[in-house]
Amino acid sequence: GNPLFASGGITIFEVMSGLARKHNAINLGQGAPDTDGPADIRQAAADATMNMSNQYPSMMGIPELREAVARHNKRFYDLDIDADREVMVTAGATEALANAILGLVAPGDEVVLIEPLYDSYLPIVKLAGGIPKLVRVTPPHWELPRDELAAAFSDKTKLVLINSPMNPCSKVFSDDELGFLAELVKRHDAYALCDEVYEHLVFDGRKHHPLMTFPGMRDRCVRIGSAGKTFSLTGWKVGYITACAKLLEPISKAHQYLVFTTPPNLQYGVAYGLNQDDSYFNGFTAVMENKRDYLMKGLREVGFDVLDSQGTYFITCDFRPLGFEGDDEAFCQYLIEKVGVVAIPVSAFYQQGDVRHFVRFCFCKREAIMEEAIERMKKVF
Ligand code: PMP
Ligand code: GLN
Repeated sequence: GNPLFASGGITIFEVMSGLARKHNAINLGQGAPDTDGPADIRQAAADATMNMSNQYPSMMGIPELREAVARHNKRFYDLDIDADREVMVTAGATEALANAILGLVAPGDEVVLIEPLYDSYLPIVKLAGGIPKLVRVTPPHWELPRDELAAAFSDKTKLVLINSPMNPCSKVFSDDELGFLAELVKRHDAYALCDEVYEHLVFDGRKHHPLMTFPGMRDRCVRIGSAGKTFSLTGWKVGYITACAKLLEPISKAHQYLVFTTPPNLQYGVAYGLNQDDSYFNGFTAVMENKRDYLMKGLREVGFDVLDSQGTYFITCDFRPLGFEGDDEAFCQYLIEKVGVVAIPVSAFYQQGDVRHFVRFCFCKREAIMEEAIERMKKVF
């Protein structure tokens, strides 16, 4: 096979969910809710399945969803988006990311990436022939090393990939950091690929600010969202890209050869979802913030050093206060086999280095499930 994929392992999320099933452990690993998204959204997709065409929809996505994405951009971020020319529907954020990287990066172009990295970023950059330039943020504060970031840019930089709110560290980039990044992008005449799948999972009264809203960035950003995250429907794999027509055009060329289009019934469901009033979005954030608080309190009681979680589905913890001898992979193995709980080792998000004492727990779960996981950990630690 292609050494790019063949030499790598199975993605950490699949590995850990497989182990959860095998050991019948509570899965606080992979980021997926254990309760399905709203019944009315699912009903809208069911109605569309029965009443609308089930044949190939337009390659760019059904007009109803593209318009809903444009309206969502206006409502939350005051962005004026042309639904016909600046929105494309994809098979989840994963395909959106792949389209953007394959469509925009030519062999030899440099791509600036910030570790910890979501699993698909680096393989697709390499597939495109891009040259990755890695900068890292590290626990416990995940501060952006500005000098290193500036040094990672050059006249060969085509793209910087930014994930805010950021998986797995739950960092929400500050306006100051985003402004700094925007200046670098403009100075080097580059573009930003903005993975904003957790845009509605931002806590403690913070607001999500897309890089696209910063001065001069409207036509330099490719903004990606995911219905999986926003509506707790991860299995649907519906994502959406917002970008100016000049950037979207090459991105759509990648999409036409990767999947061409995505299921129309699910697109109708997501359009219905995005058109809901603010109470859905506010309620969703509030429910998830409560879940975060619940798991955070439990993890503290177990004895972890629990880091701040400003957004996403995740909490990162340092397990050294528990007295465990070994690295994060050994800890996760112990946790599965001896405790019956699954977490994700944070080192899986780094190419190399010394981040070996942190694990990620996922809190988009029912309280009773999280309670049971905490009880199991309290018994052992
Ligand atoms: N980006 C990040 C940062 C993620 O955590 C995820 C996880 N699901 C994705 C992209 C992929 O989203 P989707 O399931 O819509 O492909
Ligand atoms: N984004 C999810 C996570 O970080 C997993 C998605 C996947 O399994 N590919 O847990």
